[in-house]
Amino acid sequence: LTILGIESSCDDTAAAILRQPVEGPAEILASVVYGQTDLHAPYGGVVPEIAARAHAEKIDLSIEEALVTSGVTLKEVDAIAVTSGPGLIGGVISGVMCAKGLSASLGVPVIGVNHLAGHALTPRLTDQVAFPYLMLLVSGGHCQFLIAHSAEKFTRLGGTIDDAPGEAFDKTARLLGLPQPGGPAVQAEATKGDPKRFRFPRPLLDRPGCDMSFSGLKTALLRQRDALIAEQGGLTLQDRADLCAGFQAAVVDVLAEKTRRALALYLADAPSEPLLAVAGGVAANTAIRAALETVCAQNNVTFTAPPLALCTDNAAMIAYAGLEKYVAGQIDDMSLAARPRWPLDQTAPALLGSGK
Ligand code: ATP
Ligand code: FE
Repeated sequence: LTILGIESSCDDTAAAILRQPVEGPAEILASVVYGQTDLHAPYGGVVPEIAARAHAEKIDLSIEEALVTSGVTLKEVDAIAVTSGPGLIGGVISGVMCAKGLSASLGVPVIGVNHLAGHALTPRLTDQVAFPYLMLLVSGGHCQFLIAHSAEKFTRLGGTIDDAPGEAFDKTARLLGLPQPGGPAVQAEATKGDPKRFRFPRPLLDRPGCDMSFSGLKTALLRQRDALIAEQGGLTLQDRADLCAGFQAAVVDVLAEKTRRALALYLADAPSEPLLAVAGGVAANTAIRAALETVCAQNNVTFTAPPLALCTDNAAMIAYAGLEKYVAGQIDDMSLAARPRWPLDQTAPALLGSGK
């Protein structure tokens, strides 16, 4: 079974070819990603209009490249999986239209995939993980705990009510004159700093549940930075390192404690092979990873994180989520529509900042 995956919901245009042999795990034959970071950089954020145009320009090219790299011809493609939401409407429409066109001309099914399901199912592609497992998605755009019961059923235990951690790292870097993306830069500074010198809040730890908040950390940082500037006219390198260390320690503490709580909820159902998978760009942070590994070890839970290229946006995860739907007989037709908002857990209450 050979699946073509297409992803264009945010600021990456991606195509991938996935093959499921008769026996054994699925193989990624090609995974092509065209990022748009440079196009959006002058504006300090993703501009939907620019993103839509760039997707329309790059989508054919990325598919062609995936075919050439994999040595697979269009005739050999058995199904087309495409992100049909959630995301920026212009990009999602580009992908869905392209997939429907190919589906009609090749006479193969089209499968609409939820972008978040793509992220959440990645541990099954990379490690053949068994359901149910606990998933922490932590990136520049989202932050949530999900229990994956099956390829279609996810329970959302909680998530950020404002900024995602990656966003907080990026803003911190900006406030301190460090380069973007902020995560790696702040992490590098933090290793040289004293996490205890400045006080940072641990938002929402005093409240039950798994919801998180990160926007207050940026406010705390701004206040302490401005106090230093008022006092001494600027920041020393040590001040900057200490601020980064304090900020990162707060993020680590919040994620570790909320993971403890999410694990307790997940373990209450006594899963036979308990596992926590973490995905998203922020999963690259070594301090966060170490803290999560410790929490898992304390609870006899296996910890896993897909390789970074499959943690950030890509089309291999979309092809894989499509494969799971295909196997379950869930295929779409020409009525497949783009859904800019599409929560994975339809039963969870809609929360500000968590609609992705
Ligand atoms: P999404 O895919 O969720 O819509 P995104 O494309 O912004 O959002 P990713 O590409 O998964 O997210 O991750 C990028 C984010 O990860 C950036 O905010 C970046 O600062 C952060 N990041 C990368 N490396 C690190 C690190 N070592 N520590 C902390 N954050 C990091
Ligand atoms: Fe994503």
